[in-house]
Amino acid sequence: MSRNWRFVTTFAIALAIAPFITACGTETPPVGPVVRCSDGSVAPDNDVSRCPIIPPPESVSVTVSASTSFVGVAYPMSKVTISASGQSTNGKTVTVSITVNGSPSAVGSITLPEGNHNVCAVGTSSTGVKSNESCQTLAITWPGIHVRFVAVTPTGEYVPQGLWAVVDGADSVRVNSDGTGFVPTLSGLKDTAKVVVRGSNEVFPTLARVEKKYFGNYVQVSSVKSWTIPTGTYAGQTVVLSMEKAYKETLPQPTGLFPRWQKPGENGAYRYTVSGYTTYPIKVAVFRSRSNFTLSAVDEGKWWNRVNETNQTLGFNGFVQSDTTSVNASGGIRVVFDSSRTSGGVDNPTKGDYVFGTVTIGPGTSGTLVILDPQYGGVAKHELMHASAPFAHTCQYPSVMEQNCLRNVPNDLTPGDVAYWNLMRLVRGLERKYNTRFSLAQTHQGERVFLLGLLEDKVIVFGPEGW
Ligand SMILES: [Zn+2]
Repeated sequence: MSRNWRFVTTFAIALAIAPFITACGTETPPVGPVVRCSDGSVAPDNDVSRCPIIPPPESVSVTVSASTSFVGVAYPMSKVTISASGQSTNGKTVTVSITVNGSPSAVGSITLPEGNHNVCAVGTSSTGVKSNESCQTLAITWPGIHVRFVAVTPTGEYVPQGLWAVVDGADSVRVNSDGTGFVPTLSGLKDTAKVVVRGSNEVFPTLARVEKKYFGNYVQVSSVKSWTIPTGTYAGQTVVLSMEKAYKETLPQPTGLFPRWQKPGENGAYRYTVSGYTTYPIKVAVFRSRSNFTLSAVDEGKWWNRVNETNQTLGFNGFVQSDTTSVNASGGIRVVFDSSRTSGGVDNPTKGDYVFGTVTIGPGTSGTLVILDPQYGGVAKHELMHASAPFAHTCQYPSVMEQNCLRNVPNDLTPGDVAYWNLMRLVRGLERKYNTRFSLAQTHQGERVFLLGLLEDKVIVFGPEGW
């Protein structure tokens, strides 16, 4: 007991002496600059390694993502699923709060209309530390097909009213008065969609198989069904058009007046040719150097009479007499007199726009050029039709383009010829204007299915470059 007491006493004396020793200056004070720790305190014994360890401040970050679905909602709404997560560098629990366009929103499924939305997230850890706000723009675009519809008329173009555009037989929209419309449809997520435009009695309905690459800008050229000739010999006469007649094969040839072709290995699908000259009148020149017999001035005069009559009949200045230099330089129709044959045609019609046509006139077995005389002038005009449009032959209506029809061929262009020749020219002009190749093929299929009750043909769609 007493020994313990002594120990305590001794210890107390030592404590009492210690200040005295210090105060007496018996210990040397620190010299030189004071070493401080990163928190500003003086480092013990000027040794930074003895500074207290300070943990780094807590940092909170947040990530947010959103996915969009259009299933089960109606345009312009979409279903948006927002997911978010926060991370604390100290491993604390982080609560995430979301705002959409500045208003608080739940994580999970919400609906938003088409357009741009600002989605932001902030994370708050259980210690109260907040993250920076993380924002992103969510751009919602409904899938669908943009449609433009225009119809050719004898005097230009026309947008009928009351049309509907229908995609895959389900989604539809009324076409605007300017011919445009957007059909919101999940078919816009597919590779191909069937687009029908119909609803006017004045124009042919159209049926198109539209590939995805055209969904943003599908332009369809159609035609009025009834063609009233505005000028020329047949002014005021009305022709009831039919694409089915224009495309009806004239055996033994594989095409009708308007050409379309089936190629091996394409499962019976048709390639349609809509084409024309880029400018009219088409320059026409007789190439004597390419002819194999001498043409008299009288006969050449007869030829030009047939050309001028054609302009009058068409009611359009389609042809102009020119010289070989001009035709060589800028295209046109080359006329050659060749004793071996009578023919006509255009170069490269599949590209849409072509430059050259050729008419070859032969005297035939008679040894004379009677085919240039008025009573036989239909032959010369027949070849001029071949050289100015991608026309073959027809037996579907009275036509100077008849061949093997087991009846007398008209000796001049008929109202039908005038209507179809100008139709082809004007449709190609609208194709060029709107940079589209959706025209007569889809007009033909629309007529087949919706007006005639026939089956849809397979059609190969090609771009502005042609095939
Ligand atoms: Zn022919």
